[in-house]
Amino acid sequence: MIKYRLQCSQGHEFEAWFASSGSYDAQASAGQIVCPECDSREVGKSIMAPNVALKSHAREDDAPARYRNLVREVARALAAGSEDVGNRFPEEARKIHYREVEQRAIRGTASPDEARELVEEGVEIMALPRLPEDTN
Ligand SMILES: [Zn+2]
Repeated sequence: MIKYRLQCSQGHEFEAWFASSGSYDAQASAGQIVCPECDSREVGKSIMAPNVALKSHAREDDAPARYRNLVREVARALAAGSEDVGNRFPEEARKIHYREVEQRAIRGTASPDEARELVEEGVEIMALPRLPEDTN
């Protein structure tokens, strides 16, 4: 069995298995290979097609977008169940850690130095990257 990545005249890509390369040639010349998306019979091997490179490049570009969406979802979920204390975050996080105040979930901002001090003191914090869209 041999697997080919194929592409129709409309640019749809799909993969198909053949018994051998000769079997592919026979089916292709008989017009028996049909694009599953548009039923086009003008199908060929897509390995050398220039838009294959473009498509794989686009997929790489999608990865940061997917990551940003994931981070945004997590940030939203956390924000829904926490109190925004803004730049009093280091102070409030300490009070909660040392049980000086009611235990609750908070969110806010801390400078890198403040965040490092909190971690060194054993205060459990989670850093989320600030997203460009959130500053608008
Ligand atoms: Zn097609």
